[in-house]
Amino acid sequence: GDFAIDVDTLVIGSGPGGYVAAIRAAQLGQKVTIVEKGTLGGVCLNVGCIPSKALISAGHRFETAKHSDDMGITAENVTVDFTKVQEWKAGVVKKLTGGVEGLLKGNKVDIVSGEAYFVDGNTVRIMDENSAQTYKFNNCIIATGSRPIEIPTFKYSKRVLDSTGALALKDIPKKLVVIGGGYIGTELGTAYANFGTEVVIVEAADEILAGFEKQMSSLVKRNLKKKGNVEIFTKAMAKGVEETEDGVKVTIEVKGEEQTIDADYVLVTVGRRPNTDELGLDQVGVEMTDRGVIKIDKQCRTSVSNIYAIGDIVEGPPLAHKASYEGKIAAEAIAGHPAEIDYLGIPAVVFSEPELASVGYTEAQAKEEGLEVVAAKFPFAANGRALALNATDGFLKLVTRKEDGLIIGAQIAGSSASDMIAELGLAIEAGMTAEDIAMTIHAHPTLGEITMEAAEVAMGSPIHIV
Ligand code: FAD
Repeated sequence: GDFAIDVDTLVIGSGPGGYVAAIRAAQLGQKVTIVEKGTLGGVCLNVGCIPSKALISAGHRFETAKHSDDMGITAENVTVDFTKVQEWKAGVVKKLTGGVEGLLKGNKVDIVSGEAYFVDGNTVRIMDENSAQTYKFNNCIIATGSRPIEIPTFKYSKRVLDSTGALALKDIPKKLVVIGGGYIGTELGTAYANFGTEVVIVEAADEILAGFEKQMSSLVKRNLKKKGNVEIFTKAMAKGVEETEDGVKVTIEVKGEEQTIDADYVLVTVGRRPNTDELGLDQVGVEMTDRGVIKIDKQCRTSVSNIYAIGDIVEGPPLAHKASYEGKIAAEAIAGHPAEIDYLGIPAVVFSEPELASVGYTEAQAKEEGLEVVAAKFPFAANGRALALNATDGFLKLVTRKEDGLIIGAQIAGSSASDMIAELGLAIEAGMTAEDIAMTIHAHPTLGEITMEAAEVAMGSPIHIV
């Protein structure tokens, strides 16, 4: 017979949403069970953020090893053993997924392996390869994430790759076509270009990295083109693919004309869809949008009051740190805390060359909302540390409210933008003004001084530019 197992808080999915929610719920005294059908850590740790950043940093090292002549360094016969790169990357992933398991166990979270399916508002069936078990829960947090969208003209195969396939290649391809110049396509395209692959990026919109200001994305575009082995087609449509014995023929349409590109592989990164279609949610009455996104309130509660949803399956940018943030809110809401989501301080980062990062409002968004703002810019080229790093490309832009200097947004294009954006997220979160940052002593010489100087620009009295 199948006796139901009673659990207090059930978390479905162990990505950066689910595992963080589980740990916080346990910290708050809940008895937590987490169920995962794949590998602990979800997309982010296994086939997303972490392995992609590992590949990017390896590619970057290889590239800079070869091209530091302007600093007086000439390296000959720099080679790459891609099998070792992949092994090193796998080691990084394993350390982190093992770490997640340790953290869950350390917080006394029960880990169940299997796929969860809703029976009613208090019950799931969890199916393993050869068994099924019913669980009854008081509260549930759904964190099942997302998967790559497949377009009918580009069915995934051995040579038509999604991001997971592109991360797992055994050899460096000679030529790679990337359909979609969003952040995933741009990051992976850059990584392989640095390893020597000839890369063709095909983007339907006017620009790659469409979510960012043109001034930022055009820096990335310029650097990609400067590599010499990257071609970018914007306003271009991917029409179809034909697999040959040892590669692909990709047909694209640019300015009304069709052309065919021969390559080893084509990577398709045209967006992701939420994993909400195979959960039995309709049986429970959890409301969704037409796109299969689960509707939630400010506490991540769905239309069924004891069921919460977080991460890529709800509205908002599909980013790991957003999933984790929502995970903490959901766990705290279940514990009866008044926690509520506020997305203003959520940063978005691209690990491109240079890195791009944005938090809060852009100047254009602020103006659209009728806010009177001062946008203050400071270039990396005027910063000593950036010069000493040979990384002078880029700028930091601060968006402040005109009446009182309140920081409401920031954009950074430049080396370490991904780390620098944290200070500005904090400034927004803490309600700081440009003066607060200008009066904060930043160590010299550091890239952080760029932030301080932009704040001084906002106040009208910068030291290092006129
Ligand atoms: P996921 O990480 O997708 O985890 C969901 C988990 O639920 C999976 O492990 C899945 O197996 C499990 N699951 C699904 N259904 C069931 C079920 N019925 N029963 C049991 N388990 C189930 N974000 C960033 O912030 N920064 C980055 O640099 C970044 N880089 C990325 C690079 C790539 C190549 C990709 C693909 C994504 C990247 N992302 C990045 C996005 C990030 O990975 C996601 O936003 C994040 O993983 C979402 O977390 P999540 O917890 O919602 O879901």
